[in-house]
Amino acid sequence: MELVDNSSSILHYASEADIDAIYKSHQREKNTLRSSTIKYRLNLIRSIEVYLRDPKMIKQLTNAVQLDFNKHPSETELTEIIPTISHIKEIKSKLKGWLTPKRNYIPLVHLGLSAQTVYEPKGATLIISPWNYPFFLAVYPMLYAIAAGCTVVLKPSEMTKHTSKFLEKMVKACLPEDQYTVVHGGIPETTYLLNKKWDHIFFTGSPAVGKIVMQAASKNLTSVSLELGGKSPCVVDETVSIKSTASKLAWGKLINAGQTCIAPDYVLVHKSKQAELVNELKQSIEKMYGDDPSSSTSFARIITKKHAQRQGNLIQDALEKGATLAYGGTYDVASQYVEPTILTNVTMDMQIMQEEIFGPLLPILAYEEKQETLDIIHSFDKPLSFYLCTSSKQTMKYYTEHTSSGGMVINEFILGAAIPSVPFGGVNHSGIGKAFGFHGLIEFSNEKPVVKRNFMTISFAYPPYTDAKAKLMKWIKRFV
Ligand code: NAD
Repeated sequence: MELVDNSSSILHYASEADIDAIYKSHQREKNTLRSSTIKYRLNLIRSIEVYLRDPKMIKQLTNAVQLDFNKHPSETELTEIIPTISHIKEIKSKLKGWLTPKRNYIPLVHLGLSAQTVYEPKGATLIISPWNYPFFLAVYPMLYAIAAGCTVVLKPSEMTKHTSKFLEKMVKACLPEDQYTVVHGGIPETTYLLNKKWDHIFFTGSPAVGKIVMQAASKNLTSVSLELGGKSPCVVDETVSIKSTASKLAWGKLINAGQTCIAPDYVLVHKSKQAELVNELKQSIEKMYGDDPSSSTSFARIITKKHAQRQGNLIQDALEKGATLAYGGTYDVASQYVEPTILTNVTMDMQIMQEEIFGPLLPILAYEEKQETLDIIHSFDKPLSFYLCTSSKQTMKYYTEHTSSGGMVINEFILGAAIPSVPFGGVNHSGIGKAFGFHGLIEFSNEKPVVKRNFMTISFAYPPYTDAKAKLMKWIKRFV
């Protein structure tokens, strides 16, 4: 298929004066939006939906993502457009209920008071998004910010320039520019943005940059949502069907050429099943991408030559340190192609076991006792996702109780992030805060309790504290 470069190819990076002007208008507009109606917010969200349901726009978007890193249009539909529309649907059907003030229970001891929690917009927000799902990861937080009544400056990734250009066009066409603005830029522009005083920052990207964002936010005590990454493990035990596991695992690892924050990073397989798993994985890979994935239009490329070289270095380092190449292993930096690769006999001193892989390389380690898997998992920071493949209920309970991760998915891959009502996010090093559904709305809202005196008073408890009051306190305690 011939790709048409509809973008002007070069993003216009914002100057400091541009950013100052945008910031000023958002500071003003955040107060307008504070009292905006649900109807107003939903209309904005609907206009994005209409835009995205237009076949012409879908074509432009899939075209843009393909130009950025050769991702097949069907994969863009599956991983960028369908999830975005799912979140729009979720918000449209639930926003009224979410924003309805919730009455709080009042114990007898506080007779005469009432309380309700209202959801006010945090205000002017900054969203910074990564390149790996360049459309969805930029738009979905913005949908929740709109729903909450916040303004948004969206800083998409500078690496996926065609998609970022599309985002700019879509936001301009669907949303008021003085409230919702796409700002393009690299590190200097993002740093300048981060130095402003925001009411909330929503960042998706690497833990290293997450720390920079949190440090900048701390200067103003700005709240942050950090959607980060890490090494998400996958345990395959001896009770599960290896054929079906391998097919799901190969898909979960290789979608987007492994450049997925929740991709299974490494596999811990029961020793008795390792050979079968490797064999089934090879067959699953060939079923999806043929025996030469470099000629498959279904297999994405690595985002930059530098990132492709990094994958190559990880393979070389593992082989030099004694890993066995069970499948694949070739790469071509010039065309940003890295072959789906399986490595066995992997040890913890290899680079591939020391950093998030973020590419189509799958190290496999064999275990005999469950404790060995925990020793490895616990040697890393808490991951974004934990994958377990087993048919044993006892084993499910064991790992649920013995591991900590942002989320856990059993006998499936990736789809833990596909359900708009299920909280999504990391824990500690893999992230702070949960997004999606009501949780997404809350990230952009202040849950404000409004407590009201309707009748009575507690003046009987005011000083001076006499003996009679001491007795009264003892009596009141019985009602607490
Ligand atoms: P990144 O952290 O390099 O970049 C993310 C954003 O931060 C980009 O917009 C970039 O311009 C900006 N940025 C980069 N360096 C900066 C700096 N020094 N100061 C200020 N801003 C800076 O991440 P990436 O390479 O785009 O994405 C890959 C990482 O993101 C992986 O670690 C992956 O696991 C993680 N990720 C997490 C999720 C999630 O939802 N949890 C989703 C996708 C990716």
